[in-house]
Amino acid sequence: MQPLKIYNTLSREKELFKALHAPLVGLYVCGPTVYNYVHLGNLRTFSSFDILYRYLTHIGYKVRYVRNITDVGHLVGDGDEGEDKIGKMAKLEKLEPMEIVHRYTNDFHQVLSTFNLLPPSIEPTATGHIVEQIETSKNLLEKGLAYESNGSIYFDIEAYNKQGGDYGKLSGRVLDDLLTETRDLDGVGEKRSPLDFALWKKASPEHIMRWPSPWGDGFPGWHLECTCMSHKYLGDTFDIHGGGMDLKFPHHECEIAQAKGAYGRAPVQYWMHTNMLTVNGQKMSKSLGNSFLPNELISGNHPLLEQAYSPMTVRFFMLQSQYRSTLDFSNDALKAAQKGYKRIANGMRNIKRMQYPAGIVSQPDEKQTAEIQAAIQGCYDGMNDDLNTAVTIAHLFTLLKKINQLYTGSLAFDQLSEETFQALKSTYITILEDVLGIRLELPENWESLTEGLLSLYKGFKEARKYDKVDEIRATFKSMGLLIKDMKDSIDWGFEE
Ligand code: AMP
Ligand code: ZN
Repeated sequence: MQPLKIYNTLSREKELFKALHAPLVGLYVCGPTVYNYVHLGNLRTFSSFDILYRYLTHIGYKVRYVRNITDVGHLVGDGDEGEDKIGKMAKLEKLEPMEIVHRYTNDFHQVLSTFNLLPPSIEPTATGHIVEQIETSKNLLEKGLAYESNGSIYFDIEAYNKQGGDYGKLSGRVLDDLLTETRDLDGVGEKRSPLDFALWKKASPEHIMRWPSPWGDGFPGWHLECTCMSHKYLGDTFDIHGGGMDLKFPHHECEIAQAKGAYGRAPVQYWMHTNMLTVNGQKMSKSLGNSFLPNELISGNHPLLEQAYSPMTVRFFMLQSQYRSTLDFSNDALKAAQKGYKRIANGMRNIKRMQYPAGIVSQPDEKQTAEIQAAIQGCYDGMNDDLNTAVTIAHLFTLLKKINQLYTGSLAFDQLSEETFQALKSTYITILEDVLGIRLELPENWESLTEGLLSLYKGFKEARKYDKVDEIRATFKSMGLLIKDMKDSIDWGFEE
């Protein structure tokens, strides 16, 4: 097993990854609130955890990867008061909340598959786990860690900290500072302290999404779903919990408090947080109006975009920085990524078709061999150093140089042993395809290829070069297509 180190937000150090229940790794990632199309910033976070999932699998772990869908309880403004994001959108669009949920869940899946992200093992929804959320609220009430106020249930931070809790530790916040900040902001209302947060909220008469509970009709608080679902599918303590940095506080801080309170143990061994995708230094976010939809990038249809960029170009762009650094969007950076991706992709095409020649007697060149071995090790060292994909890609470019030299003949096969050649080939392909999720993209406008071939066909026909005519017919046929010789023109159709 490779010695993977990951930065743990909780200890604020890079730690050697040790699976709690090896070989099974439990990974939980906070999923999207499905009231809106996913933007490129969201995609960056989910892509980073896709790399983690792929790499853990590549180095030999089985991973139970749980990524939830938030379809209730996340309120506008991210606090405990106000409208549900999904309920609000449903009213605006005059649709059922579940129609909103379905529309944006489908979009989320479609986008993730376009960018070659693997689906998780389990994708639970908050509305599918209302019973568990009511049970956990009851559990916390019984332990004296929550209280009822006017039909809502709140988590009691003071009681939690008195019982040995450490609210604020993950995000490095000091309780007294937090108290001052929040008291100034929105007062106490029905809470005992402004820091307390909702486990269950009473539904006002106009609130659409509601369920019966021992405390009357209501709905779950945003933070509770992740605690209940991660506990249900991954147990009291699991390996890795991830999300964007903006979820550290209060969302993940509250998750820790709820889980420790309800189940008596710290829920997570390693907390991982991705940094933000920015535009001109500002976080990309729907509310700031600086976000792109992935489909806008693919079509190039957005005032800030100078051209269209393919999904693999965008994926490659994201991989060129480590997940813990910010990544700033710019046309220049994407254009550079486009060039880089194409060079890498050409190398992939070439090495896939290259075979070590049978029967040659190699005289391995020590320098070449050492360079290849160092680059192969470098690919893994990069990944093992807190998933530093930027370093891994730099080493892939060294391997690419060797592949190109083999391709053009400036490096002869007999300068490498068969073993070194096979290691070069398999590392280049598996790191790119399996670990980084980069695949070959063929041009979308393949119809122009058929048009070009048809015009050649016409020329050969006129010149009575029938062997060439037959060759082109056969090429079309191998694709299930038929060339049609019309009276005044030539066309193609599907072979029926
Ligand atoms: P949301 O649906 O807004 O809750 O976000 C879903 C995920 O995307 C969360 O893990 C957020 O932290 C993450 N996220 C939101 N905006 C950005 C951004 N600009 N860059 C990276 N991740 C983001
Ligand atoms: Zn969550």
